[in-house]
Amino acid sequence: MSYLVLARKWRPQTFTDVVGQQAVVRTLRNALTRDRVAHALLFSGVRGVGKTTLARLMAKALNCRQGEADVPCNQCESCLEIMAGNAMDLHEIDGASNRGIQEIRELKENIRFFPSKGRYKIVIIDEVHMLTPEAFNALLKTLEEPPAHVYFMFATTELHKIPITILSRCQRYELKRVSYAELVTFFAKISEAEKVAVSQRALEMIAREAEGSVRDGLSLLDQIFSFGGDEISDGDVAEVLGLVDRRIYEDLARALLAADLAACLDIFTCSQAAGMDLKRFASDLLGFFRALLIVKIKPQPEELLDLSDQELAAIQDIAAGASQETLYQYFSLLLKGSEEMQYSSRPRLALEMAFVRATQAGQVVPTSTLLARLDGLLAGVVLPQSAARPAFPSISTAEPAPSAPRTIPLAAVSPVATLPEEKMNNLNKAPISLPEQDGQSPPALTAAAPADREVTRHWEEFLRHVRARKRWMAPVLQLCTMVSEKGDELILEFATPFDCKLLQEPDNLKLLQQFAQKFFQREFRVVIRENSAQATGESENNETESLLVERRTLGNDPLVQMTTEIFGGQIGNIRPGLKV
Ligand SMILES: [Zn+2]
Repeated sequence: MSYLVLARKWRPQTFTDVVGQQAVVRTLRNALTRDRVAHALLFSGVRGVGKTTLARLMAKALNCRQGEADVPCNQCESCLEIMAGNAMDLHEIDGASNRGIQEIRELKENIRFFPSKGRYKIVIIDEVHMLTPEAFNALLKTLEEPPAHVYFMFATTELHKIPITILSRCQRYELKRVSYAELVTFFAKISEAEKVAVSQRALEMIAREAEGSVRDGLSLLDQIFSFGGDEISDGDVAEVLGLVDRRIYEDLARALLAADLAACLDIFTCSQAAGMDLKRFASDLLGFFRALLIVKIKPQPEELLDLSDQELAAIQDIAAGASQETLYQYFSLLLKGSEEMQYSSRPRLALEMAFVRATQAGQVVPTSTLLARLDGLLAGVVLPQSAARPAFPSISTAEPAPSAPRTIPLAAVSPVATLPEEKMNNLNKAPISLPEQDGQSPPALTAAAPADREVTRHWEEFLRHVRARKRWMAPVLQLCTMVSEKGDELILEFATPFDCKLLQEPDNLKLLQQFAQKFFQREFRVVIRENSAQATGESENNETESLLVERRTLGNDPLVQMTTEIFGGQIGNIRPGLKV
């Protein structure tokens, strides 16, 4: 007897044999026992998950002459004929090659007659989405009033291509991909029955490769059985499937996260020497980092990952050594590398470059952690009391104030050594200027309405309140150029987006709002505004000007300010980089 491929040999002959799809199977069996099977059923799902198998099982159950309604006997004439593929009353049509109106007309002609042997005529149309619109149209009339002796079973991998008029006349069953665990169990059962010893890891590799399709998995198993004889090792599977043993990704991930470039390149070279397809390798490595991220983010990662317990444990172990931000960074860099690979004439170099970039990127510390560290640092540091900046700068947009306005652009914190003199002059024309003040009396606010006084009068006090609670926030608030109230809004205006970037982060804004509400005893909603129009002032819109503005903005960045204040440093040079 010729060799029967596993997919045919192991095709389920009863509902209990079906792998996965429990919900659909239960519904179908209920319909059979209650004699309520719809006259048109539509099975959808990816290839190899059991669509036509279920349709044939339904055909068998409907026409079986013995047994219970939902348990085809597999012994009566009808069951045997269906299994042998020569049942007169079962019409199996491949929608891909019989898609025209003529075929449907012939079919309609055929089903007008009563079944020759069984109780029903059953029509199975596979890949039904391939039918032409005219064919669908011709079918529609039959589906509207199906003869009592006819059942239609449709199967499709592309549900969205089926006209809504057809869909609405079918009972629909969506088949899911079979789970990884179910596939592993099923393949183990087959290997045992076929008397081939397959290692657990090899079974897992096959199940993962099958991606939820029983048929795909079975044909892989076929290949491996014919390759390896009675005993199949992990290496056999890796060789046949062109896969890399997953342990290579574990080793590579560890080396990457340890920034050990030499080890990375060694591991990579080994994988290539083993004949691994490069694209496949990159994609699997990305999949591995995705798994690392998911393990970090999700409490029950196994729902999203096709992994054995052993593999999951290894991934959790690796992920424990890196922050979520680091893993995300690596994932992005590798994704970029594998995208570059697609267009590169030297894809291997593109991937190696990604390794170099990733190992150089190093560990990423989340901003929140940095800020917390900064708070800790600042707690032990006495900040120069507004030495560099006045407590409350305001913007004078009109003529220079008679009291000789003092400019506080970068000059306050930096001699911009590399700027030529001309540019320095421009810099000094920078529009942020403020009235001279003695540091004793609270500075007057421009255009502050009387109602605002409450807030403005106590602003200094509020800053102290904030400084005592969130140390880094006070110097940032000092960059505020105007404070005003409007209804329940406390409006803080800033000269540039950079000045208020940090405050605009949701967590920080929330915190600031809490401080304001508590201090002023009002239900304030804090609104941050960027007043960049004023900041750029009478910009001539030429490049030099914008470069200057950019430099100044960078110099005014709260983080830069804080850093110079903490370390008592100065800004020596500002080199605007490439815009990201
Ligand atoms: Zn039977």
